[in-house]
Amino acid sequence: MIKNLLWYKTCPFCNQGRLFIFKNLHINKLYLHCEECERGYYDPTKLKVENFFLSLQEEFNAIAATLEDIKEHDWDNLHFNIVNE
Ligand SMILES: [Zn+2]
Repeated sequence: MIKNLLWYKTCPFCNQGRLFIFKNLHINKLYLHCEECERGYYDPTKLKVENFFLSLQEEFNAIAATLEDIKEHDWDNLHFNIVNE
């Protein structure tokens, strides 16, 4: 099955990984997750190295965010990229 994955920018920490958009199901919050260094960022408007959390150290269930999630959380004013994987 082809899945649309949404990503925003390149990670400010490693400057390599794409920041994919996920949803933390525990607190119902969207966040950006780096595919390379596993760092996460909750606020796309404050995308800075000092604002990261290590997503591997947090215990919560997360799923890839959909376009509906993004509308619901008012993230749709940001310019996202969509890839099919
Ligand atoms: Zn990174």
